[in-house]
Amino acid sequence: MSRQALDELKQQIPLLDYLQAQDWQPARHLSRGRLMGLCPLHADHKPSFLVDPSKSLFYCYGCGRGGDVIRFVELYRQVKFPQALALLYQWRGLTPLLHEAAGFYRMQLHRHGEAVAYLHQRGVRLPELIEHMRIGYAPGGCLRGWLTQLGYPLPALRQAGLVTAVGYDAYMRRIVFPLEGNLYGRSLSAAAPPHRFLPGSKGGLYSWEQVRRYPEVILVEGLFDYAVLWQAGFHQVTCSLGNHLNARQLQQLCDGTRTVYLTFDVDANGSGQQASERLALRLRAQGVTARRIVLPEGHDPNSFLVQGGDARQFQSLLEAARP
Ligand SMILES: [Zn+2]
Repeated sequence: MSRQALDELKQQIPLLDYLQAQDWQPARHLSRGRLMGLCPLHADHKPSFLVDPSKSLFYCYGCGRGGDVIRFVELYRQVKFPQALALLYQWRGLTPLLHEAAGFYRMQLHRHGEAVAYLHQRGVRLPELIEHMRIGYAPGGCLRGWLTQLGYPLPALRQAGLVTAVGYDAYMRRIVFPLEGNLYGRSLSAAAPPHRFLPGSKGGLYSWEQVRRYPEVILVEGLFDYAVLWQAGFHQVTCSLGNHLNARQLQQLCDGTRTVYLTFDVDANGSGQQASERLALRLRAQGVTARRIVLPEGHDPNSFLVQGGDARQFQSLLEAARP
């Protein structure tokens, strides 16, 4: 595995995110954003485990061990380096093959003007956002060659759904977003079905590990809704990729005490509103506070913010959200 791939993996899995997902809690906040808590690597009675989130490094004054997120997984799960990597990939939700494909698509994005133009048209402008969502572009007709040259056998590409039965790239002229264990592709062409996933589950809620600690969470149905809200400064946003939540997504929303703001599309046939009413009932039955944001007729959060709405107006809609 290349140094660059390792750095990328570490960048995608901040140590603090991983620790918090293992239910680690800081006991004290120190200067420069550093945190101190009990050491998860041994029975610790007074906080001796120091975490520096800005450097994604840890050090324990009790057991004298320290390092990066990969080192932590080695120690915590008692595995060797390659297994630690595999566990992190698994935790991040992408297999090495999908990770490689997503990386290839990211390289393509800025080489294709039509892809960048489409992102602009949907309001996606900030480089930090493109980086944060790891947005890529599948031009079609070149992924297969790239992956086989890296040594991935064609049957593996077919099995993952990246290549069709007859050997063509499955994603063609699609903006690609890596998900947990899948890749979502949004078609640029009106002639193709707009939304596509690889075979298998769409996974859990988008970016949930980064969102779950917020007491108030905004739920949207599309990744372009997520993108413009995140860009407008609403970082407590997550996405269910469609207005029907799978069991895992529902369970994630209900795994703690929080308020969920539902922001599904307002479509003419009322299906978005019905889905959001049903979901609000299900959440309330699980003890989660649900509020519904009402957007102007015919809008989703993406069109609202792209067609002139701003963060302040969206904030007012949030405040006006009703149970
Ligand atoms: Zn320790």
